[in-house]
Amino acid sequence: MQLYNKLSAKERAELIEKAGKDRLTLSFYQYAKITNPQEFRDQLFIVWDKLDVLGRIYVAKEGINGQLSLPADRFNEFKAHLDTISFLKGIRLNIAVEQDNMSFLKLKVKVRHKIVADGLNDDTFDVTNKGIHVDADKFNELIEDEKTVLVDMRNHYESEIGHFKNAVTPDVDTFRESLDIIEEDLKDHKEDKNLVMYCTGGIRCEKASAYFKHKGFKNVFQLEGGIIEYTRQVNENNLDNKFIGKNFVFDERRAEKISDDVIAQCHQCGEPFDVHTNCANDACHLLFIQCDACKEKMNNCCSTNCKEIHALPFEEQKALRKGQSNSNDIFKKGRADYLPYKKDLRNIFENLKVDKK
Ligand SMILES: [Zn+2]
Ligand SMILES: [Zn+2]
Repeated sequence: MQLYNKLSAKERAELIEKAGKDRLTLSFYQYAKITNPQEFRDQLFIVWDKLDVLGRIYVAKEGINGQLSLPADRFNEFKAHLDTISFLKGIRLNIAVEQDNMSFLKLKVKVRHKIVADGLNDDTFDVTNKGIHVDADKFNELIEDEKTVLVDMRNHYESEIGHFKNAVTPDVDTFRESLDIIEEDLKDHKEDKNLVMYCTGGIRCEKASAYFKHKGFKNVFQLEGGIIEYTRQVNENNLDNKFIGKNFVFDERRAEKISDDVIAQCHQCGEPFDVHTNCANDACHLLFIQCDACKEKMNNCCSTNCKEIHALPFEEQKALRKGQSNSNDIFKKGRADYLPYKKDLRNIFENLKVDKK
């Protein structure tokens, strides 16, 4: 029985093109006790592969986190299958704001230790004791409250291209760093401030809100379904959109446009631009923002050094890489000192009316 993806991304792209059918990109997550993640993972793969599902799905003893695409006309079958699984019955699916048939080109269902890399020890607090979930309407109301501190729970390269107005955007590479910074900066305001959080689809806030409650914060709120669900509700109910720029996503689309504002700039020349790319040098792959003019000039590379290596014959590049692992894994860091226009988000609480003694 086939339990793993066999086609290359290129072969898959050709198949999707040939099929000529619209695909639907969506995501969901659920914390639940899964006793045998490997067995569960294999069952999912068998059913979903037949449904032509593509995506990146993590299964762990603590639950499931899935981002995927499937042919739109098979959505009902897919939903019916989820409904056969007790903890996924009737689950909210976050339908992507901007659709693209090529959002995913492989089906990868992986067993992981956790469904989000959070760097936390679960035994220290109760993850089910989470913050108050708010919808878009209530969220808009809450963030106007002067007692509210609005915090973006994502990483620096995500908030750099889009975030809610007046949000604090910690300049962090990991979720864990964010938790520590927020706790430290707000330690004198655990009771008198509303801590309101958001992330892409809600999963990171699920953990973070429970964590902050455990740490003694009294008024903890989280945006239900994250930016994706917020946007859907704003469009459906004609609400005020308080999000500026793009929503970074972890698939081939890279981002969804939520408002027309371009809030970032090309890391190499400083022109307003908000499309991420990965350095074309296979030994680098740095995630950074590069405008079309710089892309052409630099041959899609992040530095002259990378450009020179990238220009070498393949065999020579391989010889150079021998014994070295990728220095910049995709999505991991997205920082380099030689990029003059990488925005510094470090002074995160400067726009906050909190006195720091
Ligand atoms: Zn540029
Ligand atoms: Zn590079």
